[in-house]
Amino acid sequence: MLKNLLKFSLILTLCLPNLVVAQVKQKISLLLYNGKVFTANKKFAISEAVAVDGERIVGVGTSQELKAKYQAAKEIDLKGKLVTPGFNDAHVHFFRGALSLLNISLNDAKTLKEAKAKVAAKVKEVKAGEWISGRGWDHTVWGNKFPTKADLDAVAPNNPVYLIRVDGHVAWVNSKALQLAGVDKNTKSPEGGEIERDAAGEATGILKETAQGLVGRLIAEPSQAQRVKGLELALDMARKYGITSVQDNSGYETTKLYREFLRADKLTVRVSEWQNFEDTVDELKRQRAEFASFGDNPSRLKLTALKGYVDGTLGSKTAAMLAPFSDDAGNSGIPRRLPEELKRMIVERDKEGFQIALHAIGDKANRMALDGFSATQYSRLEIIIMPSRPPNKGEVIKPTPLPTPLPNPSPNPVSIIPESRRHRIEHAQVVNPNDFKRFAELGIIASMQPTHAISDKRWAESRLGEYRILGAYAWHLMKSYDVHVPFGTDFPVESINPYQTLYAAVSRQDTAGDPIGGWQPQEKLTIEEAIRCHTFESAYAEFSENEKGEIKAGMLAD
Ligand SMILES: [Zn+2]
Repeated sequence: MLKNLLKFSLILTLCLPNLVVAQVKQKISLLLYNGKVFTANKKFAISEAVAVDGERIVGVGTSQELKAKYQAAKEIDLKGKLVTPGFNDAHVHFFRGALSLLNISLNDAKTLKEAKAKVAAKVKEVKAGEWISGRGWDHTVWGNKFPTKADLDAVAPNNPVYLIRVDGHVAWVNSKALQLAGVDKNTKSPEGGEIERDAAGEATGILKETAQGLVGRLIAEPSQAQRVKGLELALDMARKYGITSVQDNSGYETTKLYREFLRADKLTVRVSEWQNFEDTVDELKRQRAEFASFGDNPSRLKLTALKGYVDGTLGSKTAAMLAPFSDDAGNSGIPRRLPEELKRMIVERDKEGFQIALHAIGDKANRMALDGFSATQYSRLEIIIMPSRPPNKGEVIKPTPLPTPLPNPSPNPVSIIPESRRHRIEHAQVVNPNDFKRFAELGIIASMQPTHAISDKRWAESRLGEYRILGAYAWHLMKSYDVHVPFGTDFPVESINPYQTLYAAVSRQDTAGDPIGGWQPQEKLTIEEAIRCHTFESAYAEFSENEKGEIKAGMLAD
């Protein structure tokens, strides 16, 4: 018996190598091997190969391991090339950017003369009386003086012209446009905006913040054909750069066009669309219900945050500051609303379960947003009153709503249930030293755009002064408090190119390499950190960190 058993086990042992060889390889669609696979996980682990089946990653490992395990319909020898997760642009105006691809782009106009030449060229293309619109101008590279209507009148006397500043917060228009809008000496600036005037009280052609709408509303909506064309151009651009997800500030209405593209299998980025924070809660809920009725695949198209504005921008001096700008005594910017009103709106929307994303540039605006978010914690307090005995096996202790008035002394022991809505502050550009810690304590995401720092560095220091500048564009400091910092581009304010974002984050230099050593170099990140901010951290900001943002088995193979 024993002899037989030994014989049997010997046969088995001899067969084993053959069994391994005979093991059927798992069939998959794609194998990338012999590369440098940066997983973007917490440890910044680097691997060699990735196995993909359909939309998902099924394995990450060495080339040898994965080749032994899988039989792929398509194999690609990476020859040592780098693989990263697809980039996730956490703050982009994708559709506005798409349309801007059809209009005049002044982003690369280095002088006022160049900007005027571009307008003059467009005048030749269009009929007299037809609107000319565009964006991207930045007077701070032209000597820091706002241009005027006269500059445009000289090249476009017969066409109304509407040109939005690079930051989207100021419009530069000509006399024809002002005339069509009925803006004259007697027109009052709308609330939250300003019609800039000269010494004689005449409008100069510069319309700040909400005043842009006086002219902007006259411009005809783009046709369906133009919208489709623009979106196709933007999607091409995103594909070229390896951008696979966008968190988009285009508004609910845009989801209709995205859905058309999705159904035609043309939507080549995953879209998290934002709703408008200003809309009433009823309207926001109506949109959610309507959106749900279409049954879109949420990994391709979904609604996430409500986007609101607390202030304007530094470039236009409309950012809300705790103290006046260092180069403009007496001007502390323009908050869009009173702190109490902002707080009320935040609490109301938070209670309904919405994630909120607030644009805040100035240190006052950031504080107003933090104060508002802080108020939500108290509005949603729930307490568990622990029984004096240990809970029975399987017994679930239900939270009881906070009794009002709060019993005094409060019942002990009490647990507060923390539930993060992952509220976000967009830009978090100038933050008071006392407020960094509050981002961490309140679980607020700091959604930042490194390219803003290298665009603004020319004048930011004189505008903010030597102390405040230390809390500006401070992504390293923010991360040192363990705050989640997703990266975005704010396209079309900046280029959508993610490599420019990574470059700015690690070098703190502009594309010309200035300044040597980097501007405020203590804020540099490593390239590994920067990639993770533009992939995993971005995914976290849209509640998708279990789906994408790392190269890991089970994740989407973006
Ligand atoms: Zn933006």
